[in-house]
Amino acid sequence: MFDILFQGGKVVTAEGVFEADVAVTGEKIACIGKIDASAASKVVDVTGKLVLPGAIDAHTHLAMPFGGTVSADDYKAGTRAAVCGGVTTVFDYVMQKKYGDKVDGIMESVEKRMAMCAPVAASDYAFHVAITNLDDGRLLSEFPVAAEAGITSFKCFMVYRRENMMIDDGNILTVLEEAKKAGILVNVHAENCDVIDAKVAQFKREGKLSPWYHYLSRPEFVEEEADRRAIYWAEYTGAPLYIVHLANAGGVEVVREAKARGVKIYAETCPQYLEFTSDVYKREDGRNFVCSPPMKGEASREALWKAISDGFIDTVATDHCPFMQAEKDWGKEDFTKIPNGCAGIENLYPYMLDAAGKGKITYERAVELCATNPARIFGCTRKGAIAVGKDADIVVYDPEKDFTISVANMHSDYDHTIWEGKHLHGYPVQTWLRGKLVYDNGEYVGSYGEGKFVKRAKHL
Ligand SMILES: [Zn+2]
Repeated sequence: MFDILFQGGKVVTAEGVFEADVAVTGEKIACIGKIDASAASKVVDVTGKLVLPGAIDAHTHLAMPFGGTVSADDYKAGTRAAVCGGVTTVFDYVMQKKYGDKVDGIMESVEKRMAMCAPVAASDYAFHVAITNLDDGRLLSEFPVAAEAGITSFKCFMVYRRENMMIDDGNILTVLEEAKKAGILVNVHAENCDVIDAKVAQFKREGKLSPWYHYLSRPEFVEEEADRRAIYWAEYTGAPLYIVHLANAGGVEVVREAKARGVKIYAETCPQYLEFTSDVYKREDGRNFVCSPPMKGEASREALWKAISDGFIDTVATDHCPFMQAEKDWGKEDFTKIPNGCAGIENLYPYMLDAAGKGKITYERAVELCATNPARIFGCTRKGAIAVGKDADIVVYDPEKDFTISVANMHSDYDHTIWEGKHLHGYPVQTWLRGKLVYDNGEYVGSYGEGKFVKRAKHL
C-alpha cells in the first residue's frame, strides 16, 4: 500500500513530459506509471496539472550580514518563501568571517549557520562556504573534513574587498587545487574588483551618484574579463569551476568557448538577468534593483536566453538577498550606500515555468535548469527528479492558473519586490517536501524545523 498517489497528471522530467501517476511511500517516490487508486491510502487528483520535482535554489543569502545590515529574509522566512514557490532545497552561502587577520574555520563557520537554520528550516537546505582566507594554509586540512561532512562546494569572491569577502587570485588558485583533491566544486563570483573600485571612486569625485552609476561603475567587460581569468585557473589546475550569476553576453561567449575546449565548467544565471535590463537603474525606484552584478544591456539579456535554450547555461538560481525598503533608501542620493541584493527565491520556478508555458523554453528544460542540473552538479543524489527512489519533493503545477506577483502574496519578510506586478500564466498549487504537504494554494502549511540538511556527494 502506497501512502500517497498523485493521479491523473503529467510528469515532467529533464528528458520528457508524459502522463503517469506517481506513488509515494514515506519520504520517497515509490512507483511511477498507471496506478490504481485502491493501491494508496491517500489520492491527490492532479488531473490537468503538471507533476514536477521540487526546485533547488543553488544560490541564496539568508540572514546575511552585508552592506551595513542583514538581508531581510532569515532562514525561517527564506525557506518558507522557497517552498511556497516550489523550491524544496535551498543552498545558502556561509560566509567565512574575518576578524582582522584572524578567521573562522570552515566547519566552525558552517556549524554557526547550521545552528541558526536547523530549528526553523521549512525546506531542505545545503551550504556552500565562501572561503575568504586560508589563514596561511592552516585551513587547507579542513577541505577533506568539509567534503566528508557533505559540504562539497565552496565559493570565492573576486570582488567585495572593502566588505572583507574577497580572496586574492593566488589564494583562489590554491583553493581550486586543494578543492579538486577533496572532491569539492568551487563557485566563483567573477568581476574585476580593481576596475569597479576605480570607477566608483571616480563617480564619487564627480558627484555622479544615482543608481545608473551603479551600472556604469561595473562596465560589462568586468565580468567577462574575470570569467576569463577564472577559467584560466580552472584549466591550469584541472579543477571544475561553477560561475555564479553569469549576466553578460561576453561571459556567455567565454563559457561557450571554454566548454568547447573541454574545460569542466558550469554556468548559472538568475531570473533577474533574464527579465530586466540596465534601464531599471534609470527608474525612480532604481535603487531597489541594485544587485551585483547589475542588470546588463539588452544584448546581454538576449544572449543569456539564447544560452539557456542552447544548453550552455546549466542552472538558474536566484542570488536571493532582499533588503527592506528603508535600507535600500539609504542610497537614494548615493548608489554606494545601497545594500546590494534583490528578492527572488519564491519567483524562480514560477518564472522559468511561465517561460516554458509561453514556449520560450520547454518544460523539460525548465526542470533541468532549476532542479535536475543543480542536483547533479552539487551532489544532491536524492533530489532533482521525479524518479523512483528519489525524495518525494513534488510540485503540483497548474499551467493555466494566472498569478500576479505582489509583495502581498509572497511569503518572505521583505516589504517590496522587484517582481511586483509581474504577471505569470501558470503557478504552483502544491509543494510536497519528502512526502509531506508544505504549500497548498497560497498558504504555507508546513512546520518549521522539518527541513533537513542535505549531505552531498563529492564532486568527482
Ligand atoms: Zn550571491
